[in-house]
Amino acid sequence: MKKLLLCLTFCIFAFSAIVVVGNESPSIVLFNGTVVTMVAEEEFHEAIAIAGNRILAVGSDSEILALAGSETELIDLLGAAVYPGFIDPHTHLLNDSWNKGLSPVDTQKLALRYGVTSAANMYTSPDLVETYIRMANRGDMRVRFSLYLIYNTSCGDVLGHWYTGYDPLVELAPRLRIGGVKIFSETSVCGDEFIGISFTPELNASLSPGGLEWYGGNRPLFLQAELADVIRTVSEYGFPVAIHAIGDGGVQLSLDALEEALNGGPNDLRHTILHNLFIRDDLLTRYADLGIIAAVESMSSCFADFYRDLLPDQYKHIVRRWADLVATGAHVTADSDWPWSAEEAISPLFRLQALMSPINHSQSYGDWEPCGLLPEDQLLTAWQGLRMMTIEAATMLHRDHELGTIEPGKLADLVLLSMDPLHTDVDQLTKIEVLLTMVDGVIEYQRRAIDDP
Ligand SMILES: [Zn+2]
Repeated sequence: MKKLLLCLTFCIFAFSAIVVVGNESPSIVLFNGTVVTMVAEEEFHEAIAIAGNRILAVGSDSEILALAGSETELIDLLGAAVYPGFIDPHTHLLNDSWNKGLSPVDTQKLALRYGVTSAANMYTSPDLVETYIRMANRGDMRVRFSLYLIYNTSCGDVLGHWYTGYDPLVELAPRLRIGGVKIFSETSVCGDEFIGISFTPELNASLSPGGLEWYGGNRPLFLQAELADVIRTVSEYGFPVAIHAIGDGGVQLSLDALEEALNGGPNDLRHTILHNLFIRDDLLTRYADLGIIAAVESMSSCFADFYRDLLPDQYKHIVRRWADLVATGAHVTADSDWPWSAEEAISPLFRLQALMSPINHSQSYGDWEPCGLLPEDQLLTAWQGLRMMTIEAATMLHRDHELGTIEPGKLADLVLLSMDPLHTDVDQLTKIEVLLTMVDGVIEYQRRAIDDP
């Protein structure tokens, strides 16, 4: 079926300016707007047709309106922009919703209000999987979720290979699947302890004693051979790993272990390193070389500044080097780690602003002063930032064939924005309103009637 779909898409594309999958008539047509496909930087259309839960066609108003039948619902966009639904590939929306005093259902409503249609839940313990399956079967997964099941806890306690009771990367229940296995290479928030960042001795010398209070001389939780062994086993069962690594010690260990486990082969499972806050020069190009995906946060790194201030000049540039990473050609995704980040970080548009300008409203991990200004040489363009929240994130979650861009045949996960972020001044990005969020062709959030000024 998938092959047929691809063939239809391709074959019709060869003969027509617009692409139509099959010969259904659309259930919904959105017209008179700017449809940004995220496929190529200057590709825009005026209208989009949806049939059921799939995108049927994109094209000009006249081309798409001509497809409408008597049953088709017509929505005048009045100039609004249509984007692929935002994908947040590292959150704790389900397991840590309590952190913001919300239920897992209410955090999803909040995410939908900001245009998030898919997310990874990055810390799923054994007791939670069945809970989430029940939720999904009740219809309570309003956002699509990829669950990452924990191999070890944030304190470093090993749970082992319990995840093998589930199948990776397939739909377990409506809008719910297992995305992969989460591994902590360093301890994270553990009881009353603050996160345990592991730096190499090279950096530790300059971080002591000021940094000791927080990082406490933490060592990575594994030796290289041990972690490589875990990655090999997880891979044999067909699961991607997502490895938590903040300090250069955790990053180096993770890269070394992944390289050992991959053993010269391609990273087909799309193993990922999370956080990547401190990347030394000698580690930078290894992501692209090995095909490792880097998932980064633009708004959850206040403590990064604390450490940058302690580091000597020759190391200050290794903190939050997102533009450097992108320039190497590595796959880089942008996430929120919400709710373990600033309130606003749940909004992709706030995070986009933080990636593009030294304005960063982050007050993460408590009531600290605003911090986390991205250095000028690490700023990204709107196109780069939006890719990191759409198609790159879909790639990390193995969903790029059906999500992350607006293309005929893909799932109808869309967000309608009052202005096009690709053509909005950076300081105005957070003024853009999410008018409507659609998952699977179903309107899951609507601010108000679109034609209500
Ligand atoms: Zn996290």
